[in-house]
Amino acid sequence: MAPSWQATTGAVLNLPPPIGAPEAAGCLLGLALGDALGAPFEGSPPRGPEPIDRLLAADTSLRWTDDTHMMLALADALLARDLTVDPQHLGDTFAQAYRHQPWRGYGSGPPRIFAMASAGRSYLEAAASLFGGSGSLGNGAAMRCAPVVIAGWPDADRTWQLATEQALVTHSHPEGIDGAVLLSAVLRLAVATPAAAPLTLAAITADAPPLRSSALRAAWDALRTVSAAAEGTRDRQGLLELAGELGTSVTARTSVPAAIAVALHAPDDVVDTVRAAVGLGGDTDTVAAMAAAITGAHLGSGAIPPRLLERLESRERIASTATALARASQAKGP
Ligand SMILES: [Mg+2]
Repeated sequence: MAPSWQATTGAVLNLPPPIGAPEAAGCLLGLALGDALGAPFEGSPPRGPEPIDRLLAADTSLRWTDDTHMMLALADALLARDLTVDPQHLGDTFAQAYRHQPWRGYGSGPPRIFAMASAGRSYLEAAASLFGGSGSLGNGAAMRCAPVVIAGWPDADRTWQLATEQALVTHSHPEGIDGAVLLSAVLRLAVATPAAAPLTLAAITADAPPLRSSALRAAWDALRTVSAAAEGTRDRQGLLELAGELGTSVTARTSVPAAIAVALHAPDDVVDTVRAAVGLGGDTDTVAAMAAAITGAHLGSGAIPPRLLERLESRERIASTATALARASQAKGP
């Protein structure tokens, strides 16, 4: 059941609650944890749970990749611009982060954009020129988008706008943008749904994400159908099978809906979410990051096992970024 303030897209009937620090921190820490736990398995085939269980039981530090690196850069840029996206400033912030730590596992697109921008082109023009002028349809704009959900809270339209504007700096293909919009819609749902209540996609029909590509609209329909069939049952296997069918490549059209299906398959435990994501193989760091951001936002930071948080690189920096975003969002108001 949607909260009453979600019942209309225009007028706000009852003021929504401000976004809480535990949900904001759960979202960003879940993302970083999924990224770090998924990273060693990137590019692997589907596999059983033994390798990820060994990593979970180890005591090594958990180092995240470009997903979290760009998420933090986006958060910093939003905070520096009163929770708005200034494309040139955001691009500069991404480029600076990349030049500082280029070894974070970046794909080929962002460095090409950064090089074009340093030669005088705008980031928007540079991003739009990639891949013969069609722009990137990868999952990079989705993997980092979680801060826009906190910054845009509680306004759905503002969240879609921020998700789109931050995407365009690197991913101008409609599918690349849609990936960020779709993931931000489900992250909103996860924040809005109390930890004790089940996550259900049926609750976001009132402010459904405005998707511009047929590929992501088809995936969204499939997600809602399979999710509705699992509703009220204990059998969530269909969601994992759907994730496998959608695929876990670096394209937004496969991995973003697959990550959402994974989160809905294992919504009650962030570690189970990561385990399911890694089991699918493919772009494991990004799928696990997106899926665990959803369960982290739903369950809150208190649900993430402390023994894993202690191993997570820069956990305090991530948590304080989430708190700063939540405070700025609360100060800005609905
Ligand atoms: Mg990565």
